[in-house]
Amino acid sequence: HFARVARVPGDPILGLLDAFRADANPAKLDLGVGVYKDAQGLTPIPRAVKLAEQRLVNSETTKTYIGGHGAPEFGEHLLRLVLGADSALLRDELAGATQAPGGTGALRLAGEFIARNLPGRSIWLSDPTWPIHETLFATCGLKVSHYPYVDASNQLQVEAMLAALAHVPQGDVVLLHACCHNPTGFDLSQADWRRVLEVVKARELLPLIDFAYQGFGAGLEEDAWAVRLFAAELPELLITSSCSKNFGLYRERTGALIVRAADSNKLTDVRSQLAALARNLWSTPPAHGAAVVASILGDAELHALWAEEVEAMRLRIASLRSGLVAALQPHGLGERFAHIAAQRGMFSYTGLSAAQVQRLREEFSVYMVNSGRASVAGMAEQRLEYLAAAIARVCN
Ligand code: PMP
Repeated sequence: HFARVARVPGDPILGLLDAFRADANPAKLDLGVGVYKDAQGLTPIPRAVKLAEQRLVNSETTKTYIGGHGAPEFGEHLLRLVLGADSALLRDELAGATQAPGGTGALRLAGEFIARNLPGRSIWLSDPTWPIHETLFATCGLKVSHYPYVDASNQLQVEAMLAALAHVPQGDVVLLHACCHNPTGFDLSQADWRRVLEVVKARELLPLIDFAYQGFGAGLEEDAWAVRLFAAELPELLITSSCSKNFGLYRERTGALIVRAADSNKLTDVRSQLAALARNLWSTPPAHGAAVVASILGDAELHALWAEEVEAMRLRIASLRSGLVAALQPHGLGERFAHIAAQRGMFSYTGLSAAQVQRLREEFSVYMVNSGRASVAGMAEQRLEYLAAAIARVCN
């Protein structure tokens, strides 16, 4: 049976992690994997999550299945977090959440929905984007196309992006990163977002907004600005929300596909399709992470503690960004790498070439992806001078 099954290469980022682990150099730095790390290099469980889990252990009475859309209280709290606590869309029942196994599960559900229920639509991704976007939507059978986003000069190309979107066939789906663009770290300004919205309206495109880093850019509310603008201005919209990063729930696989529809009747139609699709993908979603999120967001004290913890993660990343640029200054590279401080979220397109990335790895045990993407949270305050000196060596 298996004689003809060929081997495919593993995920390059995970391969990088193996190489990092095998490296005996005590000065080694892992800037590869996209997981938040604290000053000790650990990815701890947030205190709010731990407290919520302790409460759940005592209060949970059953492990029977939750419904196809997941836990209703999770959906309600997540909708308020994403769309705003006082969103008119929620009052008017124009938006609903379908729980999924992480942001990836939500994207897969969205892809299946588009492929089955909106036949003939292509999906347009930023060039570059998170590599899983490319393979996931193709696996759903969708035609995947690209619009320019960051070019070889390592700059955001808003004009080229808008020009390309203006030629996207009417009705196609356009994937946008809500904030903290992965892999580049370059985000649109509010003025840019308004211009994208105009093109979306003019071409009658369906945006799918991937919201994987709420709270890691400018703040929990601030990061939702574009999502809320689009949800208010457009009658139809898809949003994927992930709780992996901001709740530190990576392995619990917690997220949702949020649908905004023109009326509550149509919302029910769409949601019936999502439940039917989910039934064939994972039947019902995992319960634990969603129960944790619901108990945090449903409790004023835990909510406040969690928001503080997200803010601490956000500020740490921001200070590493400006710290690295400051450390590059004495090497005469402060200006060349100033974009690192202006970018947002977990990742930075440094602008380093594949050859420079390779030298960083071989000569300095600094591990980053060949594209020059660095995971900023992998840096450490006290290692910034080492990193800056290494970068200076490979740049000269
Ligand atoms: N979208 C983007 C842009 C991401 O970077 C990630 C995580 N790396 C996800 C979605 C999915 O996250 P998860 O499935 O772990 O919730």
